[in-house]
Amino acid sequence: MSDTLLKQLKNDYGKVVDVNMILSLLHWDLEVNMPPKGGDARGQQLATLSGIAHQLLTDPEFGVLLNALEDCSDLDVDNTATVREIRHDYDLSTKLPESYVTNFAEVQNKAFQAWVTAREASDFKQFQPHLESLVNLLKQKADLLGYEGSPYNALIDEYERGMTAEEIKPIFADLAERQSLLLDKIMQSPNQPEMGWVDQTWDEKKQWDFTMEVLQDIGYDFEAGRQDKSIHPFTTNFDMNDVRITTRVHERELFSALTGSIHEGGHALYEQGFIASDQRTVLGQAASLGVHESQSRMYENMIGRSLPFWNHYTPKIKALYGSQLNGVGANELYRAINAVQPSLIRVEADECTYNLHVILRFEIELALIEGDLKVADIPEVWNAKIKQYLGLDVPSDAKGCLQDIHWSHGSMGYFPTYSLGNLYAAQLVEKIEDDLQDLWIDVEHGSFSGLLFWLRTNVHEVGRRKVAKDIVRDATGKEPSAEPYMRYLEGKYGALYGL
Ligand code: ZN
Repeated sequence: MSDTLLKQLKNDYGKVVDVNMILSLLHWDLEVNMPPKGGDARGQQLATLSGIAHQLLTDPEFGVLLNALEDCSDLDVDNTATVREIRHDYDLSTKLPESYVTNFAEVQNKAFQAWVTAREASDFKQFQPHLESLVNLLKQKADLLGYEGSPYNALIDEYERGMTAEEIKPIFADLAERQSLLLDKIMQSPNQPEMGWVDQTWDEKKQWDFTMEVLQDIGYDFEAGRQDKSIHPFTTNFDMNDVRITTRVHERELFSALTGSIHEGGHALYEQGFIASDQRTVLGQAASLGVHESQSRMYENMIGRSLPFWNHYTPKIKALYGSQLNGVGANELYRAINAVQPSLIRVEADECTYNLHVILRFEIELALIEGDLKVADIPEVWNAKIKQYLGLDVPSDAKGCLQDIHWSHGSMGYFPTYSLGNLYAAQLVEKIEDDLQDLWIDVEHGSFSGLLFWLRTNVHEVGRRKVAKDIVRDATGKEPSAEPYMRYLEGKYGALYGL
């Protein structure tokens, strides 16, 4: 009996996937190709199609099928996971009444406009009443979705299944303390990198060609993807055989197109790595944003900013730029691409400071949702934490609590996934180093296939069969923790700065 029900369930869900993929395609086109006047019509098309996707997923038929299948005792492991994951998506869409969704969209729209103006004026007060409404709606959302422990857990669940505020808090507290300490030592070190030579104009075409070469080398399949330019780099997929990335190129920045491409390439390798038989199913999807970021950050930072990587690519980049790189060797490139400089802006932050930006946002979000902090007090708390963690004074709200778009969209619970990605990445790499003794020798030779094979087997092909922390635990034999990441940071930057 379960066979017919499963067939029906998968068929119905396949249509939800189709519509979501078409939505992604419209978004991709909007960012990459669309002429400026196309915006209004595209907005309407996206709204209509989102409505159709929502209708498909909230069809009561799903509820009936899921109830029936949850009573079946003959499901194998994959089918059990399929039912569990579709149940998750269905509940997320149906537990919020339509009146709530409509109201949220209206408040969100006004909040976004207010944020844009407030940021231009660098005046948090203009955004404050809108953020207050959003925080109230998010608290309501947590109640509607249901949770155990902190109400923030209901919000995290949307981005990082199975992770809780109670688990994240001690990990982040430990990270904040140790990373601040490391940063202090780095800033006091007399052994700072020579950066003068980086300040030149770097031909954009050469930068682009270099990103294409590196993407090819790390295993990005151009027969199942493409790279284009966009203002904000991103990865999107319409199927595991059509995973596209974008990058941006600045002639005054030698590294940003490269690191951006490798980052998006890491995301794309994950999406290209699902199992073929999982196409158009709930299992052939990313387990969480944290797992996604673990792949992009591993490739960007742990591989792309490693010395073995630069030992391999230095002759190639020197061949591209000729006399512009006279006197610059692998070591100089390695030191420059890993230069540490505390910044007020999260998206400009280096590896040593990035998590600190995330942690302060997590702490503020948690306090807001748990009712321990008033929205009006955000600027004061923000500025104090920037001083505490990074030693910087915040000169304006625009460079402080108004810098990110996330809150204006009513997204809370999203930020922690960036740092969890860093932690998962370091934990996975420690295990990969154990399993592949030649990992760094391979990287030094420009060979990345062993690494990719390991990730395919242990992470990519899992899809949504497991939640993030189970993927990490099963792949490494240990619970996710901050230890491997701190070992990585202290080892790498200790050597770089002679600490
Ligand atoms: Zn990313």
